[in-house]
Amino acid sequence: MREASFWRKEEGEEGLVTCVLCPQYCKIRPGRVGVCRARRNIDGRLYSLIYGEVTSFGLDPIEKKPLYHFYPGWDILSVGTRGCNLACGFCQNWHISQADAETQGLTPEGLAAAAAEYGRRRRSIGVAYTYSEPLIWYEFVVDASKLVHEKGLKNVLVTNGEINEEPLRELLPHVDAMNIDVKAFTEPFYAKVCHGKLAPVLRTAEMSRKAGCHVEITNLIIPGHNDSPDEIRKLVDWVASSLGDDTPLHFSRYFPAYRFDAPPTPVATLRVAVEMAREQLKHVYMGNVPGGEGDDTRCYRCGESLIERSGFDLVAYRVKDGRCPSCGADVHVVGAPPFQEETR
Ligand code: SF4
Repeated sequence: MREASFWRKEEGEEGLVTCVLCPQYCKIRPGRVGVCRARRNIDGRLYSLIYGEVTSFGLDPIEKKPLYHFYPGWDILSVGTRGCNLACGFCQNWHISQADAETQGLTPEGLAAAAAEYGRRRRSIGVAYTYSEPLIWYEFVVDASKLVHEKGLKNVLVTNGEINEEPLRELLPHVDAMNIDVKAFTEPFYAKVCHGKLAPVLRTAEMSRKAGCHVEITNLIIPGHNDSPDEIRKLVDWVASSLGDDTPLHFSRYFPAYRFDAPPTPVATLRVAVEMAREQLKHVYMGNVPGGEGDDTRCYRCGESLIERSGFDLVAYRVKDGRCPSCGADVHVVGAPPFQEETR
């Protein structure tokens, strides 16, 4: 166990503390845990219960995160813990986010050493903190990501973005890229379906982008819940105006999971969303769609096919020095695929 980084004692009740890591601001009595079940009050001090506790560990294509404009074609060592500060009824990883899944111990030093080994042998670019919510794994992520950087590798977060300003500011220097899940564009959806708040998620994305972190946004479209054209328009407006029109946006297809049993999102709904988004954004994708529709990168200016993907594999890469070879438009890709780096 490691003492938590962001908490305060409360006046007026012996041993009561407030966790100030995320916008849940859990008030926690001695012996109790917060909403995420990852932080416990022990004798009036707050501790992380998941420091160095890992449920999942494996090599993934970076496209699986999904990150399409950050070191395309590379693999990344992906690790996750248990617990989450949200409780989305449609969670695809509920067995580790909402249940007390079994963990194995891993030190930050062990993770950084493994990342370096995978980097040498398997074209892995670094570490992705993913699967369950990495922000509640804060102390471990900070310690590990510093060591990963020391090895010359990258750190990626796949996150719900629910974190307070001060901890985010301290975390950002150690993070190179994020995929932030904007689950809907209304506060009532966040309150009712996820037991969280939308505004802090938007702030996280905006602060991260301003700090120079590479940001891609995912939005899982769920029929009847967050699929109205008006809501999608608001999401797209925000991405364009607050993050920039070069920010990749992934619309993902929902499938029944956890407490949601509505049928999968019609592909036609995703097509409409993509079409609307392309009016303002340069890089818009569809995820979880049969046949890989909406997976490839085309030049937003001339339509040239730039990056072709099959599943999570890169099958063609025609970007030259970050630009479209036909018209010279900036494709906004950080890093080049491993095979390009090797032939330089
Ligand atoms: S990190 Fe966990 S304990 Fe802390 S405020 Fe958020 S949900 Fe509550």
